[in-house]
Amino acid sequence: MLPQTTKITVAHGDGIGPEIMETTLRILREAGARLDVETIEIGESVYKRGFSSGIEPESWASLRRTKVFLKAPITTPQGGGFKSLNVTIRKTLGLYANVRPCVSYHPVIATKHPVMDVVIVRENEEDLYAGIEHRETDQVMQCLKLITRPGCEKIVRYAFEYARRNNRKKVTCFTKDNIMKLTDGLFHKVFDEIKVEYPEIANEHWIVDIGAARLAHTPEVFDVMVMPNLYGDILSDVAAQITGSIGLAGSANIGEHVAMFEAIHGSAPMIAGQNVANPSGLLLGAVSMLVHIGQSDIAALVHNAFLRTLEEGIHTADVFTEGVSVSKVGTKEFGQAVIERLGQRPQTLKAVEYKSASEPIQGTWKPRPPAEKKMVGVDVFFDWRQGTPEELGTQLLQAEEDGFRLNMITNRGVKVWPGGMSETFCTDHWRSRFMHSEGPVVTHQQIIALLTRIEALGLDFIKTEHLCTFDGEPGFSLGQGQ
Ligand code: NAD
Repeated sequence: MLPQTTKITVAHGDGIGPEIMETTLRILREAGARLDVETIEIGESVYKRGFSSGIEPESWASLRRTKVFLKAPITTPQGGGFKSLNVTIRKTLGLYANVRPCVSYHPVIATKHPVMDVVIVRENEEDLYAGIEHRETDQVMQCLKLITRPGCEKIVRYAFEYARRNNRKKVTCFTKDNIMKLTDGLFHKVFDEIKVEYPEIANEHWIVDIGAARLAHTPEVFDVMVMPNLYGDILSDVAAQITGSIGLAGSANIGEHVAMFEAIHGSAPMIAGQNVANPSGLLLGAVSMLVHIGQSDIAALVHNAFLRTLEEGIHTADVFTEGVSVSKVGTKEFGQAVIERLGQRPQTLKAVEYKSASEPIQGTWKPRPPAEKKMVGVDVFFDWRQGTPEELGTQLLQAEEDGFRLNMITNRGVKVWPGGMSETFCTDHWRSRFMHSEGPVVTHQQIIALLTRIEALGLDFIKTEHLCTFDGEPGFSLGQGQ
């Protein structure tokens, strides 16, 4: 029986995209990858034809049909009205896991970190990337940070499954849960729940600031790492850069139905069309794709030929170092050198092995019965610049009725009433907290009545957040001074 051919969608992108894609596809063809390619157009020209996300409706059909996307970088046009294609694709197709291996190639590529083999598993759909931003008042902008239990379970379980499948020894979690106790707190809590299902894999948690410093200084202590979207976005670039060059790293975006593979760098327009770009990042993205679609044999063939090429000192300009490299080559010549080494294994660098697996790794989550929710109060936010916290407090006390008691007023999260300090800087964005004296009995009708009383005082309320307990636990930060 002939080995199965896999349909994939390919986009050549902008800038250096077409050159590095052509070289990558040539290597895959010569290595015997069993691929049936559908080509779509994305990026600058599509944006300019009026598609605000840089992709046309027919192209979505191709992605949903093949479910595998090998994507070259694109140029996002400057100016308003254009949405990030990457963020749109990740969120629309549910690509929840961004997997970025960052490996140093000491001694063949110059790096300050000779021992480094880190895989960053970044949550890819949530966090501050929900894109829900508001100008709340004249002075204040707001961005919502959304962290969900299914999102945390999927990414944390993916990281542990990845570690198990790839024989990795440790999974490290980074959060900032000492400050963001509910959002990052949930991520850490889920990590603690899931880690016990993998007793053979070591685990640890770091606060992201000191963890990031450690990653930049001593990357050899890390193995697989899992973290929320923003920290993962920043730290995977740091990790890739300190291996020697950002041009060397590939990335996989994994979803339940569709997966997308790419280089982590952009379209580098300054060097486009000159045959100088390093195709390695996209090539390694393509290697992850081959593993994902079950062509581990071809993935290992290509990856080992790539390592052999690097180790013989055949380097593109971005990683060429006098005294370490042997010959400086262009994009096409680098590709040709890899093709000539197909079937060879590296001598100095560690050769790769990929286990053949029938199914790609997936991070699953378990639906659970919802917690019992009870409303205990409401935060009401104001656009107000007419006076002092004391004056706002005096006005709001008039809205107390029906069991609601004014509990506090904060400005940028700092309690300024009752008993604030005159040194605290106040903007035009205020939060008041009304709690019900009888506890969890608040109704929507009572909140509407409270807002009606506030409206009658002539105050500009701009939003509310309902305060609820979930199985008796407060579902809101208690705020300073509580
Ligand atoms: P960039 O990654 O394109 O370039 C940063 C620097 O790295 C430049 O000096 C560039 O010459 C160099 N570089 C990048 N890739 C290289 C390679 N393969 N070989 C050799 N040198 C390489 O980042 P940028 O300049 O900030 O962005 C350029 C464009 O790319 C922007 O329009 C940006 O929006 C877009 N971008 C796209 C993606 C994507 O499609 N996934 C990712 C990041 C940026």
